[in-house]
Amino acid sequence: MLLSDVVEASQGVRATSSRKNKINIFAELLKRAAPQELAQVVAWLSGDLSQGRIGTGWRTLTTLDIESARSPTLSVNDVDEFFGELAEVGGSGSAARRQELLGALFGAATKDEHDFLLRLLTGEMRQGALTAIVAEAVAVAFAVPIATVRRAHMLSGRLPVTALAARTGGVEALEAFRLEVGRPIQPMLASPGATLEEAMAEFDGQASVEHKMDGARIQVHRDGDTVWVFTRTLRDITASVPELVDVVRKLDCASVVLDGETLALNDSGRPRPFQETMSRFGATTARELLLHPYFFDCLHLDGADLLDAPLRDRREALTKVACGLSIPALIAPGPEAAAEYFDGALAAGHEGIMIKSLDAPYAAGRRGRSWQKIKPTHTLDLIVLGAEWGYGRRTGYLSNLHLGARDPEGGGPIMVGKTFKGLTDALLHWQTAEFPRHERERDGNTVHLYPELVVEIALDGVQTSPRYPGGVALRFARVVRYRPDKEPHQADTIDAIRALLPGTK
Ligand code: AMP
Repeated sequence: MLLSDVVEASQGVRATSSRKNKINIFAELLKRAAPQELAQVVAWLSGDLSQGRIGTGWRTLTTLDIESARSPTLSVNDVDEFFGELAEVGGSGSAARRQELLGALFGAATKDEHDFLLRLLTGEMRQGALTAIVAEAVAVAFAVPIATVRRAHMLSGRLPVTALAARTGGVEALEAFRLEVGRPIQPMLASPGATLEEAMAEFDGQASVEHKMDGARIQVHRDGDTVWVFTRTLRDITASVPELVDVVRKLDCASVVLDGETLALNDSGRPRPFQETMSRFGATTARELLLHPYFFDCLHLDGADLLDAPLRDRREALTKVACGLSIPALIAPGPEAAAEYFDGALAAGHEGIMIKSLDAPYAAGRRGRSWQKIKPTHTLDLIVLGAEWGYGRRTGYLSNLHLGARDPEGGGPIMVGKTFKGLTDALLHWQTAEFPRHERERDGNTVHLYPELVVEIALDGVQTSPRYPGGVALRFARVVRYRPDKEPHQADTIDAIRALLPGTK
């Protein structure tokens, strides 16, 4: 199979908004891949490399000015070999050697292939949504039920391995995957819930109501004295978190698999900002920020697999093995107790609560309804500072908005984020027609505006940011509507935004 076949499928998928079409395009490609190519193709389509992350700083290396090949000749296996060689480059002279290898690879690639390889190497293609589509394509291509593919993917932790099993051994091979202590599984995810009341009603009150902590997901495995710690993306970080390893080693059991969240705490026991936990996660030496684990699920205990057991039983196992380390939770509370708990969680600096069905098994691969996250939604009225020309479906439209908060001291608006989420086609049309009337200047892809328009933005919260001039950035901002009834001097101030930083309440 040629690389160009993969690139074409990837382009086809980007060009259609129909989920069904996307799945069929990928499925056709997977059917055509030979068994020894399948793992690579599946990894690439989901934005991953079989070799894992290979080196960093691609941006600079990839500014290489190389003439593209006229016609495609690179095969999937050729490219995989290149990646294998790149992954092995190390030691002195490695930058030059990498540059040489990349030069050879890009020199043999057409323009479209070059773009695809760049996005793959820089991790720009990696999106959870893509993995879910590739999983469905595996089911279609090899005529196996999607639920079986998802479960095998959850247990193997790797979609390429799952795809190969589906191709070579069908349902039987997929069903042979088991939870293995030491091998991470795909974590279960949550869906946004509408309100606390609705979620509680959906589960008939039979729910575990838990703090939703804003840290980093961890999955710990222990077999005897051996402990592993994995991240949400199943990266093994055992060596960089000795304090977590110690805690798990002290638990009173022979083998266990726990799912949880880890946080860096400040001296008074309040959670520190999300980025501080994350930077501690990446560090290999710095130990000054100690991580504390909060477990919320037990997937295996002393030889017994609990994935198919209801949460009620898994929580019982959790309490038995790690009582003092479990996340605060209320089991099947009444409506008033649940509401009070929600307020308490926010007051303690957490981002919201999780409501989980006590009857549901552990299921990964897709955001299901059995776990629902409830967060307070904030909305802010912000000033539109400019917009970027869109791409793909939005080509020719002014799309990604630059958003500013008001300076209470009377200075110009202060940029706090960007978003193109929530923009309907009607709004895109309107923006593209309206913005030139407010245009101050253009540079590159951006049209800068005079501060005249106010837009209402919903967000999940804010975080400190060295990139933005006010030191804060919006998290998951999306457009609710324009506010023609508001003048820029009535927009929210940078102080109002800073007040939303965790721990400032
Ligand atoms: P989100 O990333 O917004 O979809 O929320 C899900 C994430 O919240 C999980 O992946 C965990 O990292 C985190 N989380 C925090 N507290 C809990 C909890 N009590 N139960 C499950 N996940 C939690």
